[in-house]
Amino acid sequence: MPSVRNQIYVTQPSLPPLEELLPYLEQIWNNKILTNNGPFHQQLEARLCEYLGVNHLSLFTNGTIALVTALQALRVTGEVITTPYTFAATAHALLWNNLSPVFVDIDPNTGNLDPNRIEEAITPQTTAILPVHCYGHPCDVDRIQSIADTYGLKVIYDAAHTFGVRHRGESLAVHGDLSIISFHATKVFNTFEGGAIVCPDETTKKRVDYLKNFGFANETTVMAPGINGKMSEFSAALGLLQLKNIDDLLKRRRQIESLYRETLLSMPGISLMPQPLETVTNGSYMPILINHDYQLSRDDLYKKMKDNGINGRRYFYPLITDMPMYRGLPSANSDRLRSARALSDQVICLPIYSELTDDQVDRVASLIRGS
Ligand SMILES: *Cc1c(COP(=O)(O)O)cnc(C)c1O
Repeated sequence: MPSVRNQIYVTQPSLPPLEELLPYLEQIWNNKILTNNGPFHQQLEARLCEYLGVNHLSLFTNGTIALVTALQALRVTGEVITTPYTFAATAHALLWNNLSPVFVDIDPNTGNLDPNRIEEAITPQTTAILPVHCYGHPCDVDRIQSIADTYGLKVIYDAAHTFGVRHRGESLAVHGDLSIISFHATKVFNTFEGGAIVCPDETTKKRVDYLKNFGFANETTVMAPGINGKMSEFSAALGLLQLKNIDDLLKRRRQIESLYRETLLSMPGISLMPQPLETVTNGSYMPILINHDYQLSRDDLYKKMKDNGINGRRYFYPLITDMPMYRGLPSANSDRLRSARALSDQVICLPIYSELTDDQVDRVASLIRGS
């Protein structure tokens, strides 16, 4: 086994310098405001709106509770069209709202919900579409909005991967009725645990703010069975610190992404997903596809990497529709989800994080080349 020192992790969280955190903690200790829309919470909401270029945003304790709350906020009922090629939280948020997921296949070029397959899945019970901008690559937002407009459906984007992604000159998280972002430790921007809902207007943000605070609209009025989804002052302070060097971190992630792409582009047996058009990516994930003519199977390469201290991740494998709580649904039938199945069987996400060195990227690429 390679020593721990030589391990290349699939991701490493970025942290602000510890001494910079201490003054923030002192402030919390002095004013004794620990949560409930405290000063750091308010500052972080304002700074993130500015940074992302969105008008309104509500901070959350994590991305999953944000997703659960977004569905509540729009009063989504019945069936929701979504993708099987995502993290478990996307579909789980539907079950937590007593909603029925209807899985639709993906476009193999993007890993995102295939807009050509959405209409055939719509029934009288359908009220919303829940697409994912997988790996931070944009969904076909125009087509999806046009279908939603035609059928009177809500669109909630799981934009968990999209922090810092710019699409046609604006944040990718501006689309749909609501978008949710995750600030989990493994994401590009982290507050240890955390997340946000991007809201189109002040009224919607207010409703979301009530819902994340048990439904309290004021001291005596509870307008809905809300949840406790509030971000603490500690996480908000971390967020303010993380924002200080986010541009450098994103720049380095994009460099690593380019380096990988240059080295792997013409490698026999390996394919890369096409780079999205009109998009500045965030280098959040580095998926590669292992083809049948590669010297090893996907799982054997994954294991060989591990044996050599290089931690990849089969992301997203298994498909959501293979999990016991979803596999019995009619829309989970494999015949209808061929592209998702193929991608899930071929993909490995390579290590990518800002502290990864060029030499380490070379080490990963050499191992894949088999030299
Ligand atoms: C990380 C992630 C989530 C959940 O976010 P948390 O902040 O970890 O709760 C939801 N959807 C996708 C696609 C994710 O990658």
